[in-house]
Amino acid sequence: MATHSKVLIIGSGPAGYTAAIYASRAQLAPTLLAGEEPGGQLMYTTDIENFPGFPEGKSGQDLMIDMLAQAQRFGTTVQYEFATAIDVSQRPFKVWTNISEGVTSKDIKLAKPETYLKWRTQIMTQAPAYTTDALIFALGASSIPVGAPGEEAFMGKGVSTCAVCDAAFYKEKTTFVIGGGDSAMEDALALTKFAKSVTIIHRRDSFRASKIMQERVLQHPKIQVLWNSSLKEVKGNEQVNQIIITTPSGDQMFEADGVFVAIGHKPMTSILSEQVALDAHGYVVTRVSHSQAGVQAAQHALQENLVAFPTTTSVEGVFAAGDCVDVRYKQAISAAGMGCMAALDAERWLESR
Ligand code: NAP
Repeated sequence: MATHSKVLIIGSGPAGYTAAIYASRAQLAPTLLAGEEPGGQLMYTTDIENFPGFPEGKSGQDLMIDMLAQAQRFGTTVQYEFATAIDVSQRPFKVWTNISEGVTSKDIKLAKPETYLKWRTQIMTQAPAYTTDALIFALGASSIPVGAPGEEAFMGKGVSTCAVCDAAFYKEKTTFVIGGGDSAMEDALALTKFAKSVTIIHRRDSFRASKIMQERVLQHPKIQVLWNSSLKEVKGNEQVNQIIITTPSGDQMFEADGVFVAIGHKPMTSILSEQVALDAHGYVVTRVSHSQAGVQAAQHALQENLVAFPTTTSVEGVFAAGDCVDVRYKQAISAAGMGCMAALDAERWLESR
């Protein structure tokens, strides 16, 4: 027998926990599916110095543990389960947590839609674990790793995926940025305010980034570029101290304090395939998405006089928040803000029915 909730939240990063705090304080007794690795990306960062309210900074793990406790304090039921399938074709919405044999939750997170949809059919041969009147997706995104040895082991110990968050820890340090898109340009420029040197390592001989960002980077006296090069290995003891780069003239070792990986993000939205509208990169489209698809959704909502619930996805009663929606900002505070909006929208939508 499936467990029923008025509001079910999937995801346990800042967006999911904030939605849970608001929904539980609205007496909706939400259930939150936290997944197998609760806390999301912030569990892998060091100190967070840009989340308001903590003038001395706070560890990412502590922040997430506190958000969890705050959600539970007001009556959120937290289940450490991973949602493997959803059906939003009719209400109440259904959520499955069983998994196909030989498939892991990581496989599902990284699956291409066509692969996932085969597993989904199998998963849905069993009964759903949960049903709900309103659903909030706060599935998050993950930065794409290069896959070099040492990269994962030194995450938060010299390897970072967010220069906006971590650049200030690299005062007078030797830093490297991997990638050639706008994120890599932005990271390199953010680092110049603190680091002694910034070297971009890019696999081709030209950047993909917008012209204006390229110009800023290429004219910056602190930034150098290693073209046609790739990260081979990250080395260190407690912290990163060396990297090996494959260059056109062979492998070279560099002293390094910081390595910023900026080769793109993947929203964790495989389980939403064919359920709600996603953009070309897999981000959930809502009426507040910072993308062309979001602007179109907002225009459509205006035409149809549907302006009341901006965080609605393409399905009424299904809301989304945080990095699975956000192609642009990807900050803990912006995810938390969107989680608040999604919970308020869900509450008002339930009241309106
Ligand atoms: P992106 O545009 O997809 O660029 C990824 C970069 O990483 C590319 O240069 C790519 O190389 C490289 N790369 C991909 N896989 C790699 C691998 N395995 N090893 C080494 N390099 C690899 O991603 P993004 O920079 O995160 O930007 C995503 C979107 O957000 C874009 O639409 C961007 O314009 C937008 N954005 C905007 C801003 C802004 O407006 N301020 C800031 C950040 C991001 P290739 O070029 O060879 O493919």
